[in-house]
Amino acid sequence: MDGKVLNNDITQVVEADRAHVWHHLIQHAPWTGTDPKADPRIIVEGRGMRVWDQKGKEHLDAVSGGVWTVNVGYGRERIANAVRDQLIQLPYFAGSTGSIPGALFSEKLISKMPGMSRVYFTNSGSEANEKAFKMVRQISHKRYGGKKYKILYRDRDYHGSTLATMSAGGQDERGAQYGPFAPGFIRVPHCMEYRAQWNLTGEAYAEAAVNAIEEVIKAEGPDTVGALCLEPVTAGGGVIPAPEGYWPRVQELCRKYDILLHIDEVVCGVGRTGTEWFGYQHYGVEPDFVTMAKGVASGYAAIACCVTNEKVFEMFRDDTTDPLNYFRDISTFGGCTAGPAAALENIAIIEEEGLLENTTKMGDYMIDQLRALQDKHAVIGDVRGKGLFLGAELVADRTSKEPVDEKMAQAVVADCMAQGVIIGVTNRSIPGFNNTLCYSPALIATKDDIDEIVSATDKALTKVFG
Ligand code: PMP
Repeated sequence: MDGKVLNNDITQVVEADRAHVWHHLIQHAPWTGTDPKADPRIIVEGRGMRVWDQKGKEHLDAVSGGVWTVNVGYGRERIANAVRDQLIQLPYFAGSTGSIPGALFSEKLISKMPGMSRVYFTNSGSEANEKAFKMVRQISHKRYGGKKYKILYRDRDYHGSTLATMSAGGQDERGAQYGPFAPGFIRVPHCMEYRAQWNLTGEAYAEAAVNAIEEVIKAEGPDTVGALCLEPVTAGGGVIPAPEGYWPRVQELCRKYDILLHIDEVVCGVGRTGTEWFGYQHYGVEPDFVTMAKGVASGYAAIACCVTNEKVFEMFRDDTTDPLNYFRDISTFGGCTAGPAAALENIAIIEEEGLLENTTKMGDYMIDQLRALQDKHAVIGDVRGKGLFLGAELVADRTSKEPVDEKMAQAVVADCMAQGVIIGVTNRSIPGFNNTLCYSPALIATKDDIDEIVSATDKALTKVFG
């Protein structure tokens, strides 16, 4: 550790945290006692693939900052310097204005997204998705007398934590206590081959899954459906890529019924799946909306955006006689310049260091290693993913695919943590369902890093399951 923690009284930091910080996603009761082992975990420093906690313990971070974010790794001085220079020049201005980094980053981003043309800046992935939803609604009002307002979303997909995005949330366990939700969001089936609803595989399964979406469209009335929103590889729902043949059929379906296609790249976006900048680009899909957040600036500054094609944009400027014909929306922190300044450097790093290629190479290596682990541990029912975005689903029985007890999956994560490797697990809040170990190391990962992650998992599985 470089010693920055030494500049603070860490005991005071821990006490202040314990007394006043409300952490995400966790029950705080264990921290209210005096057992030091139950301290809240505070991460104080990071370099490359590694972070250090308040006790000085080093961890190999296999989840890029916990939730698929720090794609270029920690300690990137050139991002920090670019942000610093930009903040001194101009930190912020918003309203109807633009900024230098906003314009330059938009140009750069669009150069990576053939077919897309406009970048709308927001604060978070949830908000980026909400912007797309609002655009769909406005298009419905303008073009279809308000009738084509419904937004389809898939079972198991996640699009955010706000009430509108939760209305489009396919993970019931997350929404269980927050209803009622907004009307006009319609659930369609997912496409998870491992737990297929139909006794089919590969292309045949893909076809059945898309037919099932079509059935919903027909039942709802195609003239009422404005958009279909999907994750290219489902993240928190269990790291679920679609089988071959799925995406072209999704595209065809949207064209057939004049439905706008919204791809949520909040996790896949900016390199995570390897070779391509975005997940959808592996499948030749031509979306109308692409939303992104986490990897855009690797967490060095908060930035998210809703990117549209010219067809969508044009609908908001094609009638200057209509005083309401523009997107009547604002995002206060969409005017922060630190985000696009950081994002420009982030993209430059990925380009200059060949990280898309590294992600493919290391992702292929890692999936092979995880599959070797699957040969050894019967508890691994399935290994799946794309690039450095991988999951290993744990099952009590490979034939019935009965999920392992959720506590056992968490014990594996805890044991890895004790070994100094941070991995994740999906669906913590739904007992028993789809307990998938989650791996998303930074795109700079080396073979040694991956060996360390896989070896820690191996040991943890042996310890927990024998
Ligand atoms: N979409 C997906 C696919 C996500 O995984 C997330 C966050 N985990 C979001 C949207 C929401 O992003 P945020 O937390 O930045 O609002």
